[in-house]
Amino acid sequence: MKKILEVKNLEVSFDTYAGEVQAVRDVSFDLYEGETLAIVGESGSGKSVTAKSLIRLNPEPPARYKAGEILLHGENILDKKEKEMQKIRGSKIGMIFQDPMTSLNPTMTVGKQIIEALMKHQKVAKSEARKVALEMLRMVQIPNPEKRFDEYPHQFSGGMRQRVMIAIALVCNPQILIADEPTTALDVTIQAQILDLMKNLQEKIKTSIILITHDLGVVAHSAQRIIVMYGGKIVESGTTDQIFYKSRHPYTWGLLNSVPRLDIHKEDGRLDSIEGTPPDLFAPPQGCPFADRCEYAMEICRKKMPPQFETGENHHSACWLNHEFAPKVENPTQIAKKLQKEEVQMREQ
Ligand code: ADP
Ligand code: MG
Repeated sequence: MKKILEVKNLEVSFDTYAGEVQAVRDVSFDLYEGETLAIVGESGSGKSVTAKSLIRLNPEPPARYKAGEILLHGENILDKKEKEMQKIRGSKIGMIFQDPMTSLNPTMTVGKQIIEALMKHQKVAKSEARKVALEMLRMVQIPNPEKRFDEYPHQFSGGMRQRVMIAIALVCNPQILIADEPTTALDVTIQAQILDLMKNLQEKIKTSIILITHDLGVVAHSAQRIIVMYGGKIVESGTTDQIFYKSRHPYTWGLLNSVPRLDIHKEDGRLDSIEGTPPDLFAPPQGCPFADRCEYAMEICRKKMPPQFETGENHHSACWLNHEFAPKVENPTQIAKKLQKEEVQMREQ
């Protein structure tokens, strides 16, 4: 598969009166054509700052890109002027956020907003633009699109508004769609519908999607690959199967144990949330950011940031437990145990 985006050793800080917030620390990843890559992690782990960096949407200042590169087709986004970024936003990279109400214009009809997004980047006649906009409303499966075209955002439900946002984000056919917590504000059924819609659209138009969420349950059926972030760093990355069944990082185990909808929790039905709080990004720990909350933490964990250990094909886990001299610790999550049980049963048959 072809690489379309490469993030290399990205460092983003915010200069505030209280000091420097080191929000993103040495983050590297690739995005391939037509895939869905999920970025997961608790609130404050640096997901949104990372995503916004890709289209330079963090306000500068206070944001400062300290180091690294973001290569889109080989060109560094961090070298671009604001004018060039305006061309890239919407046409090459589209973005949708958690709350469509704040990104939609309440005083303009939905149809007009889609047309405006289109005309910003493409020269099309008005009648043609209307046709395209209607086609977009149909594509995101908004019932009765001719009538809905002339309605205002407040006349739409939360789920329908998010569909409109998707239509706006996709109208110029971007190669990359960034979806930052796109379903967090929606109830579970609507959430599933929006995820299904995104998946179907992707199969049709082959856009690459970066799906950001704090909830691992959301990505199980949507993403091919997952990046787990914590304390501004990538702590684990791999295929969806590797992260769900073969994770080699205690933070990911904690996330998996706190997913309500996965049918993997303890026999007594209890969910475990991860105890403790994320690290202070004004003064990030020199060792592993998760060490203070980790029940397996060893002496070295507090002293030295673990490297990205290769824990499988294209599977990397930044945890000292993967060192050859570390004590052997099994993945303790119910979902991993379930898989192990099934594998044993298969072998015995
Ligand atoms: P996530 O999306 O994973 O919940 P964010 O990427 O939004 O987390 O935030 C990462 C860190 O950066 C947090 O500590 C947050 O407080 C900080 N941060 C984000 N935006 C700003 C800003 N404009 N000024 C100062 N700090 C910020
Ligand atoms: Mg966020």
